[in-house]
Amino acid sequence: MAAPRKIALFRLPPLPTIGEVIKLYNLRAEKQLSQNFLLDMKLTDKIVRQAGSLRDAHVCEVGPGPGGLTRSILNAGAADLLVVEKDNRFIPGLNLLSEAAPGKLRVAHGDILTYRMDRGFPKVITKAWEDDPPDLHIIGNLPFSVSTPLIIKWLENISNRTGPFVYGRTRLTLTFQKEVAERLTASTASRQRSRLSIMAQYLCKVKSCFTIPGRAFIPKPEVDVGVVHFTPLAQPQIMQPFKLVEKVVRNVFQFRRKHCRRGIEMLFPETERLELAEVMMHEADVDPTLRPTELSIPDIRALADAYGRLCSENQGLLTYDFREELRLKHLNRRSVSSTQQPV
Ligand code: SAM
Repeated sequence: MAAPRKIALFRLPPLPTIGEVIKLYNLRAEKQLSQNFLLDMKLTDKIVRQAGSLRDAHVCEVGPGPGGLTRSILNAGAADLLVVEKDNRFIPGLNLLSEAAPGKLRVAHGDILTYRMDRGFPKVITKAWEDDPPDLHIIGNLPFSVSTPLIIKWLENISNRTGPFVYGRTRLTLTFQKEVAERLTASTASRQRSRLSIMAQYLCKVKSCFTIPGRAFIPKPEVDVGVVHFTPLAQPQIMQPFKLVEKVVRNVFQFRRKHCRRGIEMLFPETERLELAEVMMHEADVDPTLRPTELSIPDIRALADAYGRLCSENQGLLTYDFREELRLKHLNRRSVSSTQQPV
């Protein structure tokens, strides 16, 4: 019997520590850019393990900074790592790392909010949506001010199968402010249940991995950090367009403590508000006295389906915004009262 072939494990050659890289390139963290670095390789390894096996995988790391997490991804056996970093001060240090891992690390100076991820990887890695996820992972420890808008953008990309999801159900492992991580994973009736919980969970299996105490970062942020893993669902739990679901959820959650019917009414113009809200609640068969936080994803699906049907029957309903109606009403009132001023 042939002896089992030894798999050559890639290890980075001896390099200056991340602390030394920071000193070498004078990479002071910019407070305005909320830069908080992870220097403890045990922690960066632990984040990387949440992504699953990275052996021979394609990976995009967002916001690599001085490169701690980047080293852990390379040590985990990634074959092709693309890092996207906005701050050019980090590029020379990342290039040094790229030389230490020949052919494995591509460094891009850019903004992840606009970066064309759909062009970042070879088309051959693409898997059909219903198939297993592709061998492509996105990993990142980003500033909180970027991670929330970014996940909202990526959720819309998941719904439309665009951006990083042209390759299939690309998995994400990302850090968030602990409170946001709790909202992303909050279940029905929990205190943290919010818009973000619904939008993330109707499209993905969302898993809260672990919490990193703020003191593990340099400099220490005010808050703790949660690591969250997302796997896009082969079959989204709601089949309506993202913008429609987003509108229903936004309206429902605007009166968080009131019965859900109150927010749903605001989806309709004042003249038909009560009547159409009644039709929608009746068709969806959802208890109108539930609080928004008590609504399950099937409840939201029923509401979105009912609203979708009403939009297809009532031209202009989908673009209706009660705030705009209120604004026009105020403007009208003001112009009427100014024309009635005594001369
Ligand atoms: N990943 C490093 C670590 O864990 O030590 C750095 C983390 S630091 C919180 C966030 C990094 O993201 C910084 O290097 C920052 O320059 C970068 N960054 C911020 N906004 C970005 C954006 N829009 N696109 C790409 N990188 C960004």
